[in-house]
Amino acid sequence: MHRDVSPPPNDTEEPEETFTYIRHPFLTGDPCDANGEYLPPHAPPPPKPEPTNDWHPFESRTAFDFACFHFSEVQSSEKEINRALDIWLASIIPFGGRAQWEKAEEVYETIDSIEEGECPWSTYKIRYQGPLPDNPPKWMTETYELCTRDSRQVVHHQVAMSGFKHSIHYGPYRQFNSKGDRVWSNLMSGDWCWKQADEISKLPDTRGAIFVPIVAGSDKTTVSVATGHQQYHPVYISPGGLMNIARRARGNAVLPVAFLPIPKVSQKEQKSPLYQRFARQLYHACLARVFAPLKAGMTTPEVIRCPDGHFRRAIYSLGPYIADYPEQVVLAAIVQNWCPKCDARPDCLDDPALRRSHAKTEFIISCFDPGILWTDYGIRTDVSPFTRDFPRADIHELLSPDLLHQLIKGTFKDHLVMWVGDYLILTHGETRAKEIIQDIDRRISAVPSFPGLRRFYDGRNFTQWTGDDSKALMKVYLAAITGHVPLVMVQCMSAFLDFCYIARRNSLSNYDIKELKSALTRFHHLRAIFIETGVRVDISLPRQHSMVHYPHSIRLFGSPNGLCSSITESKHIQAVKEPWRRSNRYNALIQMLRTLVRLDKLSAAERRFAAQGMMAGSTSSYAAFIHDGGVPEAPGSDDEDDGDSDDDLGPATGPKVMSSVKLAVTPERNYPKDLEGLARHIQQPRFPEALRRFLYQQIYPDIPADDIVLDDCPRFHGRISVYHSAVARYFSPSDICGVGGMHRERIRSHPNWRGLYPRYDTVFVETDSDTLGMLGMTIGRVLLFFSFSFCGEDYPCALVNWFIPVGGSPDEETGFWMVKPEYMAGGHRSLAVVHLDCVARGAHLLPVYGTGYLPEDFHFSQALNAFRAYFVNRHVDHHTHEFLK
Ligand SMILES: [Zn+2]
Repeated sequence: MHRDVSPPPNDTEEPEETFTYIRHPFLTGDPCDANGEYLPPHAPPPPKPEPTNDWHPFESRTAFDFACFHFSEVQSSEKEINRALDIWLASIIPFGGRAQWEKAEEVYETIDSIEEGECPWSTYKIRYQGPLPDNPPKWMTETYELCTRDSRQVVHHQVAMSGFKHSIHYGPYRQFNSKGDRVWSNLMSGDWCWKQADEISKLPDTRGAIFVPIVAGSDKTTVSVATGHQQYHPVYISPGGLMNIARRARGNAVLPVAFLPIPKVSQKEQKSPLYQRFARQLYHACLARVFAPLKAGMTTPEVIRCPDGHFRRAIYSLGPYIADYPEQVVLAAIVQNWCPKCDARPDCLDDPALRRSHAKTEFIISCFDPGILWTDYGIRTDVSPFTRDFPRADIHELLSPDLLHQLIKGTFKDHLVMWVGDYLILTHGETRAKEIIQDIDRRISAVPSFPGLRRFYDGRNFTQWTGDDSKALMKVYLAAITGHVPLVMVQCMSAFLDFCYIARRNSLSNYDIKELKSALTRFHHLRAIFIETGVRVDISLPRQHSMVHYPHSIRLFGSPNGLCSSITESKHIQAVKEPWRRSNRYNALIQMLRTLVRLDKLSAAERRFAAQGMMAGSTSSYAAFIHDGGVPEAPGSDDEDDGDSDDDLGPATGPKVMSSVKLAVTPERNYPKDLEGLARHIQQPRFPEALRRFLYQQIYPDIPADDIVLDDCPRFHGRISVYHSAVARYFSPSDICGVGGMHRERIRSHPNWRGLYPRYDTVFVETDSDTLGMLGMTIGRVLLFFSFSFCGEDYPCALVNWFIPVGGSPDEETGFWMVKPEYMAGGHRSLAVVHLDCVARGAHLLPVYGTGYLPEDFHFSQALNAFRAYFVNRHVDHHTHEFLK
């Protein structure tokens, strides 16, 4: 075993810390040739194809871009494509030109003739094989269709994509931080991969291979039609070597591989044991069929092409499986309400219990009759999990944690938030409870600078809520209930939210897992308040119980956010909902599959053209390049746009930087350019004094601010430019972000935001860079972003009012730090100029509402002026949660 300070390929995403890695000694991912013969060290990959101008089967770049734009990007209908073709033709007729196509149908034919990306779907027909009674129910005579494509071929395509060159690991590794603490992040950093590699290396001829675990997920999804609902049950796969960030990004990291049949029966028939047995057997037989093409490669390596262009010998395994609770019950062949991972009894799930495994189940089955198995062990004997047919696979182990359904929608929304509502009704009666719930609602809507959370929560009705709504509520809920419910209930919620925010991190150290366990212990202890207050008789719920298994699952599989069902849910849009909308709704699945194949083909063709350097520039600049021999222009970058859009949480792409705050690109015009005039304009008469003190500090940084004599400070007569926003960029792979993990956040200081109200955001300002967390920071409210030059130096700055910490530790009820506005001797707010280098990022404050009701006409734009104290919200995003820990 060798210790190695260089990261495994491409794990260069964590800029803040240096890590040490130990790679698996046998599954080392050595490049080989197409026949599987290992190459000498440092041999280059096979040469890339030469650039050509061969757009086959398209006539030109223009034709290819036209097809891509209409078919993949805007998803035009046949009629719209016909219309666009007609306009295209009209524009070239005067020059005697012709277009490749006249009708949409011809466009489709061309797309179908693309050779790469060929991964056709086939249909398997399945029927009930058992004995038929005299008058058999319909489900016994019906034919069911499994639509699937070759899972091995899909994996080959995914692993070969050069776009994943910087986001794939070829073998298991162990990661340690600078303190020597083990860190779990991507799947390959987990103990499960290592253990698999140990097993694999006992097989002949596997040394030097790469390990390709197959992450899978299945989930029913509904599309609505006027006449009712249509359900689909897609299965997705993703190569496990891909980093979490790649798996969570929109793209080809996760692809549909099958649509499982959904038998339609009456509710009465659904309860019949014979039917249940058939439905379960059908489900497992289909999954076994879907993964069958990969089975041979699970014991004998096969040569595949990797994103860096090299060939390597790959060995597969069934990897973590993503599914929600009712489907987990079917997957694990257990009885409803039991846990698929341990044998805790359904009425006391959180009591200590032993883990399930196929071997253990087999042993128990050999000892007891089916009645005992059902009642004492929660084991069904009428079906065998499909994983038993595959080497080294055990469904009880492979079921992955699921942040979305277990924590966010399950424990938080369906349990805790509902229970708080129930508590209020039990304690105060319907009428008073309603008033309090309305006040909680007002408090949520009064949260400052938090666009996107204008949706009213009415305490109990969540029918239309999405996972994102619940995530948004998690950010502000704690402060909103404080004062209206017992202290222990707030502490319970706080312990749960701590668990949730730690579990959602992109990487977790041993220390973090200890913190996670301690949050769980606190939560289990404190949630008894819901039993004491009569809201619950007991608490034994499968989704909530799953929290018990998180520490072990994180050690096995790395961070849960690389395996969450939000990945499969968001894939439904591309793989089911959009193709469904494009169908004519009659026998839709066949049309949907055709659309999926065409999309794959177009994206495969695009990758070929891009690899040959043919996708540079825009359509017209490329055409000009071919025509005149010029240089195709790079497409414009909109990374630095200063639009007033609300995409504050939008993706960041572009160069990697540690963390920075930069002013918007263009200054605002309608401000005085001189200091005195500007101070009058923004009604901050002490602005000039604050600026002079700032300049003095720039010259004498070691003199404490309190010792500065104003008369000693330089005067400033230069020009000042004003900005309405600044952009903070920082590394935060746990939050919504671009592929590189960079997060971009726009901080506003706007006198008339969207023409509606003044918006002055708050920021974290570093006061002591050696002290971590809140002790080294204070909060500033940005009254003005501005820049100027002084003595040849440019200064990007912010004019701020201070909010100073209350006490030396967080509030014991909520766990939040508290701050209050700072006032000077004369009763006016403290004012200071800070350099943007000292600004870490945006901060989010939540009012400390106390026990009173908020006035009905309270407007959130007043929230930062109206209260005596504020909580520093560490639930606003993961970066803040880690940053304030
Ligand atoms: Zn369990």
